[in-house]
Order: sequence, then structure tokens, then C-alpha cells
Amino acid sequence: MGAQSVLGARFQIVPTHVTPDVIVIGGGVAGFSAATALAEAGAQVLLLEARPGLGGRATAFTDPGTGERVDNGQHILMGCYYDTLKLLARIGASDRVRWQAGLALTMVDERGHESVLKLPPMASPLHLLGGVLAWDALSWFERMSILRVGAALTPRGPGTGVAVVPGGQNFSSASRESVREWLVRHGQAPRLCELFWEPLALAALNQSIDQAAASYFVTILAQMFGPDSTAAALVMPAVPLDELYAEPARAWLEARGHEVRVNAPVKVEVVADRVTGVRVRGEHLAAPWVISTVPWHGLGALFESPPQSLAMTIANATALGSLPIVTVNLWFDRPVMHESLIGLPGRAFQWVFDRRAIIGGASSHLSMISSGAEAIVAMSNDELIALALADVRAALPAARIASVRKGLAVREKRSTFSLAPDAPARPQAETGIAGFLLAGDWIDTGLPATIESAAVSGHRAAALVVQGLPAPSRTSPHHQ
Ligand SMILES: Cc1cc2nc3c(=O)[nH]c(=O)nc-3n(C[C@H](O)[C@H](O)[C@H](O)COP(=O)(O)OP(=O)(O)OC[C@H]3O[C@@H](n4cnc5c(N)ncnc54)[C@H](O)[C@@H]3O)c2cc1C
Repeated sequence: MGAQSVLGARFQIVPTHVTPDVIVIGGGVAGFSAATALAEAGAQVLLLEARPGLGGRATAFTDPGTGERVDNGQHILMGCYYDTLKLLARIGASDRVRWQAGLALTMVDERGHESVLKLPPMASPLHLLGGVLAWDALSWFERMSILRVGAALTPRGPGTGVAVVPGGQNFSSASRESVREWLVRHGQAPRLCELFWEPLALAALNQSIDQAAASYFVTILAQMFGPDSTAAALVMPAVPLDELYAEPARAWLEARGHEVRVNAPVKVEVVADRVTGVRVRGEHLAAPWVISTVPWHGLGALFESPPQSLAMTIANATALGSLPIVTVNLWFDRPVMHESLIGLPGRAFQWVFDRRAIIGGASSHLSMISSGAEAIVAMSNDELIALALADVRAALPAARIASVRKGLAVREKRSTFSLAPDAPARPQAETGIAGFLLAGDWIDTGLPATIESAAVSGHRAAALVVQGLPAPSRTSPHHQ
């Protein structure tokens, strides 16, 4: 008997509006990864999202001024986002991203010097070494320091959450070393840090290299520069973010008889340490399994009265710090850059993206990203727009003579969670409540707060429902 028929026997497909096998809370990457994997395995799924729109922290809105769909913040995927790419393939959305064949980054430093870091077509991690050794932004001495990092990276494989560094230094979440301390320990030249490591770490971790734990950065490096030479490729969404995965996933689920509800804020119902279902605006919805994908700061509010067995998990989640990302969108009266993205190391806005090159359209719309944006998040809209404009005009000569038609600042104050060495522990998927599982980017995947961490967590929770946990008592009619 094949796997599908085994699962088909366990979960009988039934029409919508009947008791589901699994309720998934949250319509972001983790929620749709879990829901679609479960649906594929034969479970009947109900996904509930509190907001009117889908996508969670990776979403888009319509700008009233231009009528354009604007992302809540430019997102980049990478070739090593294996679970994310699996989700996109499952829902038929693989063509909604554009792959950049190898990593090629144009960087403009604080003095206005432009250079290109291009990884040559060599086996990984030789392509990183070859790229940096050929990078004319650095002196020979500065370039040579990369060899020490290249020699140090030995990946244990994607999704393991642990990178192994020869020389006896294995990293786990227990390591207290910061990214900067790790870079110094590996003899990285200050200018290589300023031009490459710091912008890369900020983009990957959304936290200053003085605060973020090295273990996360080393895990990312081990995946990017591991044996898979496509792992470091940039994979850019070619459509507004909600159309990348959330809307296709909703359509995919509904076409297969599953249900997705928006405007559905959930409270989880628990009796004697066993989940019985959820309550949405007074309506009780029964299910033997409930998967929460709400962010760390939303876990406590899922319960009218938090169960004692979740007290520590909720306390840790509530204590986990949040970090902002600020995006300023600028519409110019003419094109001002030729590349899809340019790095602006040392500036408040570290990356500038040309939306015209990424998703098409006629207008010269730049999206400028400030990661780890604690220092500027409290500024007014006008101040943020002026700061972004000053950064882009200092770096791109064409922007100096172009007029700005419109500026729009977007603050995501709780974009990611803290990766500091002393941050509270991240939870596992299983909880002390039978039938209640946790997913979301902040679950202990070993990865920073990324789309990939969310996808890994969703798939992990789905796998536990399908294969692993001792089954709680079935309450749905079609299981009796
Ligand atoms: C500006 C910005 C830029 C980013 N850039 C990148 C990038 O370049 N690359 C990258 O990999 N990652 C990036 N990230 C991080 C990435 O967006 C997140 O890691 C990922 O989207 C998290 O997905 P999730 O499903 O875990 O959580 P979320 O997207 O937060 O989804 C949780 C959902 O649960 C819903 N919810 C909460 N409470 C309830 C309730 N009681 N009932 C029902 N629903 C509820 C929420 O409304 C939300 O839709 C960025 C994030 C931001 C904000």
C-alpha cells in the first residue's frame, strides 16, 4: 500500500463546512506550508486568519496614490530555501520567482565607489573565495582574509540548524559569541566586514552584528556556501508578495475542498490539557488537531485563560524581543538604476531594489530597506523619506537629477525576533497540550526569522500530525 493510500485511510476527504481534521491558525508562510502539506497528505484542513488579507509578514497592499501593489517590505529568497521552494512547487507557484543564476552584487560604498562582487561558476564554497579574491573593492591583504572563513565552513546539511566548523567549534543555540566576535576570531579584515559581512548579516538576521548570535549566521553561511552551488542564488519574488504564495495557496486549498477564512481571530479551546478546537467570534469549531502559526508576541492572546502547561512557553515567547524593518518606497520621474538591487554598506538604508526590474511595470519605483532599523523606526514619515532620498542620491548619480514623484514609508515594528545569545529559548513544535502544535518562523528551527524558517516549521508541524504524535481522541464525526 502506498503512502498516499495509508494517509487517505487515516484522513477521509470530506466536503467543506464539516469538522476538519486540522485547524491551522494564521495565513502566513508557516500556515500555508502546514495546511497545504496536510491537504496533500489527505487531511481535511481549515485555515483561519485574523486579518482581512492573507500573507502575514510577507504581504502587499494597494497604495492609494499610485494604485500599485506595494510589498510590506522587499523580501529575498535564496536557492537554499528548500522548504519554501517545495511549498511554491506544491501550489504551482514556482514561476512566481526569478532566479539570479549566481550571486552578483553591486555595492556602492560610503565614498561612492561602485564595485561588483560576482561569484564565478565554480564549486561551492570555491565560488565565494574566487568572487572575493577577484573583488576590486578590497586590497589584496583584505581579500586574502576570506580564506580563513572559507576553510571554516563545513555544512552538516540544510535544515539541520547546526553548522560544524572544523577546529572543534560546533555552534548551537547555546553559543554566546556575537557575529562580530566570530568575524574577528576568523581574522576578517575590517573593510571586508564593512562591505560584505555586515550587510549580509544584517539582511539575513535583521539585527546588528554586535547583538546577533554567531551560531545563526554560521548556519546561514553553511547553507549558502555548502555543497549545493545554487544555494547562494538570489531568488526574487516576481509578483507582489501576497500573490507569491498566499493567494495561490488559498486557491489550491479551496480547489481541493478545504476552507480558508479571513477576518477570523481565533481563541484556542483546551479541556484537561487536550485541545478541543477553537472559538471564532463566539462560534465553536471542533478539531482534534490545532496548529498555531501566530508570531511569538501573539501566543498568549490565543487563550482566554492560558493553560498551566504552556505557561513557560508563553512567558518565553512574550519575553522574546522584536526588531523592526523600515522600507521607504520612492517613485522617481525616470529610471535611476539598471540593476535589480544595489548594496549601500554603511548607510541607514543598506539595500535599494528597483521594483521595475523585479516585478515589471512602467514606473521608476525604488524600494529602500533598512534592516535592524531600531535607530530610525521612530522618525516621522517625512524624516524617513528624506533620509532614504539622501542615501540613494549619495550613491546613485542618476537619482540626483531625477525628481521624486512620491515617497511612502512602511514600518514593520515586529518584523523579526531577537537572535541575541541571551534571548529566551525558542519552543519545539510539540506542546504539553495534546493535539496542539506550534509553528511559525520563531519556533526552534535553528534558522533566523525568515520565510524558510516559517516553511520548515509548517512542514514540521504537518509531519507530526500525519506521522508522529500519539493521536488525541478524535472528535470529528467522520472519525467516529
Ligand atoms: C519588512 C520585512 C522584510 C522581510 N524580509 C525578509 C526577506 O528578505 N527574506 C526572508 O526570508 N524573510 C524576510 N522577512 C521575514 C518573513 O517575512 C517572516 O519570517 C515570515 O513571513 C514569517 O511567517 P510566519 O507564517 O511564521 O508568520 P506571520 O507571517 O506573522 O503569520 C502569522 C499569521 O497569524 C495571524 N494571526 C495572529 N494571531 C491570530 C489569531 N489569534 N487568529 C488568527 N490568525 C492570527 C497573523 O495575522 C498572521 O497573518 C521579512 C519580514 C518583514 C516584516
